[in-house]
Amino acid sequence: NVPVITIDGPSGVGKGTLAQYLTCKTGFHLLDSGAIYRALAFGAVKNAIALDDVPGLVKLAETLPVEFKATSILYEGEDVTSKVRTEEVAGVASTVAVIPEVRAALLQRQKDFAELPGLVADGRDMGTVVFPASPVKLYLTASAEVRAERRVKQLKNQGIDANIAQITQDIKERDERDTGRKTAPLRPAEDAIVIDTSDLDIQEVCRKAESLLWE
Ligand code: C5P
Repeated sequence: NVPVITIDGPSGVGKGTLAQYLTCKTGFHLLDSGAIYRALAFGAVKNAIALDDVPGLVKLAETLPVEFKATSILYEGEDVTSKVRTEEVAGVASTVAVIPEVRAALLQRQKDFAELPGLVADGRDMGTVVFPASPVKLYLTASAEVRAERRVKQLKNQGIDANIAQITQDIKERDERDTGRKTAPLRPAEDAIVIDTSDLDIQEVCRKAESLLWE
């Protein structure tokens, strides 16, 4: 009976930062499920697997050579952390994530992250599909515009100039694919606590989550 805290929500809402904060506070393991979908996307492009080649994608998903080491993502042993963090890879990830067979092929692998002393699971369907029995489910939201602004700031900090209109459009398209798909559409679990982060900075989000979890 491993305790699992699930954190779901759209991209750019602060899930990753909150997940890291909660793993530090609890000493739990971390599942960044988006990184698994990104690694699959990366592998598909690398191996020239067409994005509608379902058997090819499933085969890759079943044996996906991805590993997590501290904050790094390794693919076939190579550090691909920055390579999988691009908007392009995110777009491919959300395209292959629509395919039910692909999601099914990645399910057990995600469940296997639940080990003692516990797990913080970050994604889109952690509370609804992967860990539905989790007693603690958080769901973060924020407007697409606010999330795009945050993303642009983040990219600026990395020395990358980004076009806000383009980023907003990318985020909206990704939202549409994530919420509109038939299998595991993005939505809060019935028993999830919803936190709107539009008017909160990341410290406030962490504090709010903490107060909801422990007070
Ligand atoms: O969270 P992140 O932006 O890294 O996820 C990349 C893409 O992977 C998402 O846009 C989504 O389409 C997909 N994904 C998913 N289910 C998850 C995590 C990510 O479908 N649990």
